[in-house]
Amino acid sequence: MSESPNIETPAAPQPAEAVHQAPSQGAPYQGQQSGMGMGRKPGGSKRFPRRKVCIFCADKIDYVDYKDAKRLRKFVTERGKLVPRRISGNCAAHQRMLTVAVKRARVIALLPFKAAD
Ligand SMILES: [Zn+2]
Repeated sequence: MSESPNIETPAAPQPAEAVHQAPSQGAPYQGQQSGMGMGRKPGGSKRFPRRKVCIFCADKIDYVDYKDAKRLRKFVTERGKLVPRRISGNCAAHQRMLTVAVKRARVIALLPFKAAD
């Protein structure tokens, strides 16, 4: 009698363990306070949805008056520099007129050439 060692092949595949998710145990994710020097600005990609319209076009001004210092002043920085068109939103035609107007206004001292100390 020779008992052959019956090698049982574990044919029975173990059932995949059902991942038990805690129903509503709701462990709040613990925010680790390890942010050292992580200076991230929230909402960095902020695009202007509305496009600016040239105020001269909006006001239907054909000619930018160099004597209109009050209006010109809006397009000159505190340091006396012209505000670029990207920021001012002026159209090309009016921006060019504005540039000339500001330069003239400077000559007659309506606007500063540069920031006064
Ligand atoms: Zn314009």
